[in-house]
Amino acid sequence: MLEKKHLEYREKTRAFMEEKIKPLAVALDLEQRFPEEHMQPLTEAGYLSMLIPEEYGGKPTDTISYTIAVEEASRVCGSTGIMLAAHNSLGCFPILKFGTEEQRKKYLPRAAKGELVAFGLSEPDAGSDAGGTRTVAHKQDDHWLMNGSKCWITSATKAFATIASSRTSDDPEDREITCFILEKDWPGYAVGKKEDKLGLRGSDTAFLHFDDLKVPLENQLGEIGEGFKQMLITLDGGRISIGAMALGLGQGAYECALKYAAEREQFGKPIAYNQAIQHKLADMATELEAARLMVYEASRMKDAGVPFGHYSAMAKLYASEVGTRVAARAIGVMGAVGYDTGKYPVERIWRDVKLCEIGEGTSEIQRLVIARHLIKSVQKV
Ligand SMILES: Cc1cc2nc3c(=O)[nH]c(=O)nc-3n(C[C@H](O)[C@H](O)[C@H](O)COP(=O)(O)OP(=O)(O)OC[C@H]3O[C@@H](n4cnc5c(N)ncnc54)[C@H](O)[C@@H]3O)c2cc1C
Repeated sequence: MLEKKHLEYREKTRAFMEEKIKPLAVALDLEQRFPEEHMQPLTEAGYLSMLIPEEYGGKPTDTISYTIAVEEASRVCGSTGIMLAAHNSLGCFPILKFGTEEQRKKYLPRAAKGELVAFGLSEPDAGSDAGGTRTVAHKQDDHWLMNGSKCWITSATKAFATIASSRTSDDPEDREITCFILEKDWPGYAVGKKEDKLGLRGSDTAFLHFDDLKVPLENQLGEIGEGFKQMLITLDGGRISIGAMALGLGQGAYECALKYAAEREQFGKPIAYNQAIQHKLADMATELEAARLMVYEASRMKDAGVPFGHYSAMAKLYASEVGTRVAARAIGVMGAVGYDTGKYPVERIWRDVKLCEIGEGTSEIQRLVIARHLIKSVQKV
């Protein structure tokens, strides 16, 4: 399924994540602490600059390698997985894809050095309907004046810059949306308190508030009115990494349940000798493998430059639902110790993986994206 170079990459990445990331995963969750200690090793190994060209200080890889990295990070620590995914796919990608040369030179080298970039699309009144953004920017002589807020922003408390969408028309009925690169240090840019979430508790998710925020004209990203399209293009790629997160989390739960089932004895034999347990394990392994094929295929399509948006939505939809199913089954296989926060990671994974059915578009919205594509394809004929 994978070429030799990708198999080798997986081996190297798995060893790195096991050694550098896994040891802190429990503490980050229990203490709701951002993975600060992970930043230096991840930066040095290039995992925070995987989509950034060398000329801007990055260590670029293809999408399959990037997918493997998010998968392997999530296999041991979901909070680190989402931080990697948000920074690379949602933060760095739009600057590279839609930014001017000046913007790339200004922001990407810092991002490659491990300073995080966030993605601000969701708002209190614009979640699934992200085009209903209420944040508004008015053009003044030498800047834009922005007011509004963004919510559920991954790494919001840490990111030095955020790609944010805003309405830019003076007509409140007009859905003209434009994107901007905002900097955390500007007056009028405020970060809310970290959200207290079910899972991914090490990841800093927070509100951003813009109160008469002066945005220099040169920080407009691409053309006026292109913002919503840019966000959707960015999400097409981002959904591959949410699929990769779900795969890694599901894989972590499955491996734990398999090992436990082979060791735990009841009625004088390992519980794995019961057909009921075997069927659960077989389904978990099979569904993960099917999801993996889809997520890797979406990565291949992206690298090949063919349209992949509908396929990444399918891969994200399937992988995230498999991830949540596998995590729940892992608890089922393990009984009370699976439900406990102590020795095994499966209850944490069960809490973490649920996000994959919500972030970057809920499962309902993925089905909507996929169905629109299907209907369009028939109408074309
Ligand atoms: C941990 C975490 C991290 C996040 N990180 C980011 C980030 O970095 N940047 C960012 O911009 N956002 C981020 N988000 C926000 C996320 O993208 C949104 O939560 C998501 O898009 C859903 O929006 P909502 O929560 O407002 O739900 P709503 O839109 O209110 O939806 C509620 C329910 O209604 C359903 N629904 C809505 N519309 C339809 C429809 N047309 N048809 C059928 N069902 C529908 C939804 O599927 C869902 O089940 C994050 C969220 C979380 C929890």
